[in-house]
Amino acid sequence: MSAYFPTMGLEIHAELLTDSKVFCTCSAEFGGTPNSRCCPVCSGLPGTLPVLNHKAVEYIIKAGYVMNCEISRFTKWDRKNYFYPDLPKAYQISQMPRPVCLSGNVKINVDGEEKIIRINRVHLEEDAGKLVHDDVNRISLADYNRCGIPLIEIVTEPDFHSADEVIAFLEKIKLLLQYAGICDCKMEQGSIRCDVNISIAPKGSTELGTRTELKNLNSLKAITRAIEAEIERQEELLDNGERVIQQTRRFNEQAGETVAMRSKEDAHDYRYFPDPDIPPIIFTEEELEEIKNSIPELPEQRIERYVSEYSIKKADADIIVGDKRVCDFFEEAVSEYDNPKAVANYIIGELMRRINLGEADMDALKFGGREFARLVQFMQTDKISQANAKTILREMIENGGDPKAIADRDDLWIKEDSGALAAVVDGIIANNPKAVEQYRSGDQKVFGFFMGQANKALKGAASPKAIQEYIRKKLSE
Ligand SMILES: [Zn+2]
Repeated sequence: MSAYFPTMGLEIHAELLTDSKVFCTCSAEFGGTPNSRCCPVCSGLPGTLPVLNHKAVEYIIKAGYVMNCEISRFTKWDRKNYFYPDLPKAYQISQMPRPVCLSGNVKINVDGEEKIIRINRVHLEEDAGKLVHDDVNRISLADYNRCGIPLIEIVTEPDFHSADEVIAFLEKIKLLLQYAGICDCKMEQGSIRCDVNISIAPKGSTELGTRTELKNLNSLKAITRAIEAEIERQEELLDNGERVIQQTRRFNEQAGETVAMRSKEDAHDYRYFPDPDIPPIIFTEEELEEIKNSIPELPEQRIERYVSEYSIKKADADIIVGDKRVCDFFEEAVSEYDNPKAVANYIIGELMRRINLGEADMDALKFGGREFARLVQFMQTDKISQANAKTILREMIENGGDPKAIADRDDLWIKEDSGALAAVVDGIIANNPKAVEQYRSGDQKVFGFFMGQANKALKGAASPKAIQEYIRKKLSE
């Protein structure tokens, strides 16, 4: 048991899903040939004038609402000066004293316990470019495609005391931003990034210890490992009577340890001052109300609706809503076949099982929710047996296609051949007098035995309902 407790706060950067950049009309899409999505404005040439993209402002207001923030009625822009090759203007347009959003809160759930994380502020700024270091030729290359992509910075209060809480919060923020349609939150593409401020203090202490900042963490797994490694490092220092130095550190994934990048002594003086090129904004109540009303249904509301209107189990609703791609697929399927419970069961029981096995990829499915829904409908209405539905789904995963066309081609429909049904069931009953005797003397359990035998022998020549009815009739004769 550790004698210390950790305290953490987060700074999250999320790129907004606007078509163009925040102060020019260049594409804000990820990637592209280096320096192909730049213009004189975003590459910082003298004499150019930035023009604010109002979509970015609308998106940060939405972000503020989904995090229960207060939205400022007045907001302005500041220049944050620093000299680094990824920033051609030598300053970043950001917001210091008057951010768009202030003091919000987000609910998280860790080990069944609810907790509120307070949001200090959310402001809008522009992203910097990217440097590619070529160690072989000992040169660094600058790609300015990312320069000027709108970015929100979410700053939390120091409300976290474990890596699990940090991860639960990040997952919640990702879902909120994705469902609100303002960020795709692809960590692997850097569209959401997280820095962690972390300190430890002796248990029972009311004062926080000296903090360090962990930067450039690029996956949830790396964040968990980095936090644990940094807590351990700080504990060792204090145990040995040494002190923690305030500094910025990065995580070395191979070594599993954090490494100093720079200390407080060489911290930047950003010399903030108001940007003279972009006028401040004043929002009217009507504008804010309109933006608020345009926010799509959020994860918690969806879960509630699935449970109350669709009678889906809470745990199942959590699974579906927990991945927006799955949830979109589910909504599409339900619009085709209005049986949400059956659709949800088959998504979780079959589709997601295969995805977890690595047989299918949600990002590259060869069929849509509509085709999937038709397959579920065929099964629910006794047109296709469960076994054949699985065969058809496998075919759809491998080669795509429509379930009806596959069933036609491979002859997979239930045929309701009453002659075959009678012959098979009569045979089973004649060959199993003992089981028949058991059933007739009140042991209902053996009914499953007859069903199993008949299903196996009939191979889709009759629906489960027809088989069941016929067996029941014969056994009660
Ligand atoms: Zn540009």
